[in-house]
Amino acid sequence: MGHSLTTFPVQASYFIATLLLVLGLKRMGSPRTARNGIVWAGVGMLLATIVTLAYLPGVWNFTERASWHRLVLILIALAAGAIPAWWSGRRVPLTEMPQMVAIYNGLGGGAAAAIAAVEIYSGRAYLGSLAFPVIAVTGALIGTVAFGGSIVAFLKLQGLMGSPRISGRHVINGILFLVVLLLTIANIFPSWVPAFGLPVSSLVGVFLVTSLILGIIVTLPIGGADMPVVISTYNACIGLAVGFEGFVVQNPAMIIAGTIVGAAGTLLTILMAKAMNRSFMNVWFSGFGDVAAVAASGGPARVMNSMDARDAAATMAYSEDIIVVPGYGLAVAQAQHKLWELVQMLQKRDVKVRFAVHPVAGRMPGHMSVLLAEAGVPYDLIYDLEEINSDFVNADISLVIGANDVVNPAARSDKSSPIYGMPILNADQAKQVLVIKRGTGAGFSGIQNELFFGANTHMVFGDAQDVIAKMISGLKEL
Ligand code: NDP
Repeated sequence: MGHSLTTFPVQASYFIATLLLVLGLKRMGSPRTARNGIVWAGVGMLLATIVTLAYLPGVWNFTERASWHRLVLILIALAAGAIPAWWSGRRVPLTEMPQMVAIYNGLGGGAAAAIAAVEIYSGRAYLGSLAFPVIAVTGALIGTVAFGGSIVAFLKLQGLMGSPRISGRHVINGILFLVVLLLTIANIFPSWVPAFGLPVSSLVGVFLVTSLILGIIVTLPIGGADMPVVISTYNACIGLAVGFEGFVVQNPAMIIAGTIVGAAGTLLTILMAKAMNRSFMNVWFSGFGDVAAVAASGGPARVMNSMDARDAAATMAYSEDIIVVPGYGLAVAQAQHKLWELVQMLQKRDVKVRFAVHPVAGRMPGHMSVLLAEAGVPYDLIYDLEEINSDFVNADISLVIGANDVVNPAARSDKSSPIYGMPILNADQAKQVLVIKRGTGAGFSGIQNELFFGANTHMVFGDAQDVIAKMISGLKEL
C-alpha cells in the first residue's frame, strides 16, 4: 500500500465521499428521505476518514517508534471525538438539538484552526505562493472566532449562561477587531515583525487567543432567541474555514465539504432571518432577542377564557375542519404520538384535520416536521405557512399546541411589538381557537400573546401530553 494521500485510491474515495455528502444533503431536503440522507452523508465521511488513515504517510511503519506514536495519538484523537459524539448524539432530546449543533459545529472550527496553526507554525504555509499564508491565516481567524462564539452559543442555549450587557461593547469589539486584524497581517507576513527574541509560536498563539476572545465577546450580548441564527452563521463560517484549510493542505475532500457547509449555512441563516423578519445586522448588533431585555408588554389586566380538556374534545368532535398548529411546547412534552392518536380518532369521526407548520416553530427549522414525521403523521397532512395561511378563515377550530410566538397576531398589527413583521400563522382567524399550554407565560421572545385574550379563544391549561391524553379519553366517552 503506497502511503500517500495523492494516490488514486485516496482521491477516488474522496470523490465518492463527496458524492455521498452531496446526495445525502439533497435527501435531507425532504422529511421523507432525511433520515436516509444523514446515513449517506455519514457513510461518505466515514469512508474519507478510514481511507485517509489507511494511506496517511508516516504512521504505518511499525519498525519506527515515531510512527507508532503518531498512530496511537491519531487513534486516541479519533476515540476522543467519536465516543462522546456517539454517546451524546444518542441521548440528546430533539429540543436540545440546537446546542448540540452549536458545540459540534464549533469544534469543527477549532479543528480547522488547529490545522492552520500547525501549517503556520511549521512554516509549511509559507512555502508556496502568497495565497497559502493568506488563506491559512484567514481560515484560522474565521475558525477560531466561530469556535469561541459557538461555545458561548452552546452555554446560552443550555441555560448555563445569560446575556450580560457589556457597556461600550461596540468600542471594545472595535478595538479587539483592529488588534486581530493587525495580528492577522503579522501572521501572513511574519518577516515584517521584529522577533524580540520570542519564539515563532508566540505570534501564532497570541493571534489565536485574541481571535478566540473576539468570538466570545461578539457573541456574549446576543440573546438566546437569536442563537439559532448565530449558530447557522458560525456554521457557514466554519465551512469556509475548513474549505480554506483544505486548500492549504491540498485536500479536495475538505475543500468541497467545507464549501458545501459554508453555502448551506449561509442559506440557512438567510432563511431563518427572513422567517423571523430580522435583518442579519439586527440579529448581530441590536441585542434584541435577549429574552430578559424584552419586556412583556403590559396594558390593562385582561382575562383568558379557559376550557376543560374533555369539553374541548367534544367541541372538536362536532366540528368539520380543524387546523393543528404545533409549537415548541409539543416537543417539550413529547406529545406528538398522543396528538396523532387524537387526530386519527377525529378523522374516524369524519373531521378534516390538517397541520400548519411555521418555518421557525420550535427551536430549529424543520423541528416540527421531524417531530410529526416521527409520530407517523402523513406528509400530505402537513402544510407550510404559505400553503395554509389563507385557509384559517374557513376552519372551525385552530388547535394551538405549545406554540406561542408563531401565532402572535401582534406580529401582523402592532408596530411597537418586537416581533412586528414576522410572518405568523393566522390561527386567530379560525371560528374558534383552542390553545394548549401550561400557564399564562410568554413565548420564547418574552412577549405576551394577544391571541390568548381573543373572544373566540379558549385556553386548555396543562402539559400538552396530559391534556391530549384527557382529550382522547373524552372522545372515547362520547
Ligand atoms: P414559543 O417558545 O414561542 O412558545 C412555546 C410555548 O409552549 C410556550 O408559551 C410555553 O408556555 C408552551 N409550553 C412549554 N412547555 C410545554 C408543555 N410541556 N406543554 C404545553 N405547552 C408547553 O414556541 P413557538 O414554537 O411558537 O415559537 C418558536 C420561537 O423560537 C419563536 O420565537 C422563534 O422566533 C424562535 N426561534 C426559532 C428558530 C427556529 O429556527 N425554529 C430560530 C430562532 C428562534 P407555558 O410555559 O405556559 O407552557
